[in-house]
Amino acid sequence: MKCLKDKVAVVTGASRGIGKAIAIELASMGADLVLNYRSSVESIKDVAKEIEDLGSKVHVVRADVSLFEDSEKIMKEALDKFGKIDILVNNAGITKDALMLRMKEEDFDKVISVNLKGVYNCLKHITPIMLKQRSGKIINISSVVGISGNAGQCNYSAAKAGVIGMTKSLAKELGSRGITVNAVAPGYIKTDMTEVLSDKVKKNIEGMIPLKRIGNPEDIANVVGFLSTEKSSYVTGQVISVDGGMAM
Ligand code: NAP
Repeated sequence: MKCLKDKVAVVTGASRGIGKAIAIELASMGADLVLNYRSSVESIKDVAKEIEDLGSKVHVVRADVSLFEDSEKIMKEALDKFGKIDILVNNAGITKDALMLRMKEEDFDKVISVNLKGVYNCLKHITPIMLKQRSGKIINISSVVGISGNAGQCNYSAAKAGVIGMTKSLAKELGSRGITVNAVAPGYIKTDMTEVLSDKVKKNIEGMIPLKRIGNPEDIANVVGFLSTEKSSYVTGQVISVDGGMAM
């Protein structure tokens, strides 16, 4: 169903994992794509090719979302190429896990700068564009641990909880202009980010999930797809958990 035909979507961190699945889902729904990545040059070329094969136009922007000017560059290039931005998915993220006793200040700062400040940077630059258009769909990728917390992830869970606060605040600011702002909170999803976990930890996690499986990137992409369409036009300021029932 090509319900996003003629729509333009920007996806940050689109070279791998969840961002890649989101970009492909939106393209399969008919959207043209602006793909952001930071360092995975070969992977982003493959994603761009897959999207072109689906019949969508694509533009790739190398940028570090933690840098204010880089985030501005993403939106500027998107506007130069397509003349509008209908959908922004703030997906780029990193982890630097450690228990508080061992967590270095630089690891706290780094995770906040990408996962929280990076979202602010992109929101700051998309807001005037969508206000002018008087329309837009913003989807921020948070996490189950932004809701429930997690030992070893004080930096990451603080950033992801911050993303939820920012989502709700901006939804209140932009609602009267026809712009929706929502968050998706994935549970444990099979990507490079969770590949580092040992088999024992993965088994333990599966045991805690009512649906008894670790999620796939497509599980997240399906919900982002829905939040990108007019079918979700009366949904804003919400955090949609996609976690197999892990946090309820
Ligand atoms: P991933 O496989 O590690 O991919 C991360 C993506 O973010 C890559 O495309 C990477 O680009 C990009 N990225 C990282 N730092 C960046 C920066 N400073 N500027 C621009 N792009 C940057 O991670 P994932 O599992 O797909 O996670 C995607 C999002 O979902 C993240 O926000 C993550 O926190 C969230 N999430 C994941 C899970 C999970 O279980 N996997 C659970 C909850 C939430 P390059 O490769 O080009 O560097």
